[in-house]
Amino acid sequence: MAKLCHECQQKKPDQSVRGTCMAPSFVKAVNLPQGHFPWTASPNFTLCDACADHFGRCAWCGGSLSGWNSSMLPTTKRFCQQFDNDSGKHVEGMYVGEQILVKLTVDLYSGISWRVKQLSRGVSLANSRIITEGGQYGWLEMYFDLNQVDSKAGILLEQEASRSWVSLKNPQMWGITVEVKH
Ligand SMILES: [Zn+2]
Ligand SMILES: [Zn+2]
Repeated sequence: MAKLCHECQQKKPDQSVRGTCMAPSFVKAVNLPQGHFPWTASPNFTLCDACADHFGRCAWCGGSLSGWNSSMLPTTKRFCQQFDNDSGKHVEGMYVGEQILVKLTVDLYSGISWRVKQLSRGVSLANSRIITEGGQYGWLEMYFDLNQVDSKAGILLEQEASRSWVSLKNPQMWGITVEVKH
């Protein structure tokens, strides 16, 4: 059975014809895992089992194998989005009970993602997920709760190796400060 995330395990793939493992379009041949196979069991599956395992991605939607990648918004709170190039900014005018959504581009075949390095006391990570459209790049979304008043609440993220075969020598940082009002 193909390697699928929780969500895609519920779906019914078309098994009438075979599909193609797309990993060779995104990574060099030397970086493909042992056991890479050009065919998949369904046109819905765009990664063979070996590649899905190696890159930690669902063969169907391309999202994280261990996570939920629902197209539904994983929050009902009001939030403000912050992107790659917002690092270093100060976000003003947020209120307790609202959220900051940090949305960063990730190369899904790089084995590199982001983790929380440091948060102010009134900030907590509520939810995170990977959004994909089937290509090489996707977005890591992290939803942060703003729980208490703070004129300068900090969110600091650090790049991390999300796969064991990556060694990350100089991880980048991404950070913002947020004004949280009552
Ligand atoms: Zn493959
Ligand atoms: Zn999936």
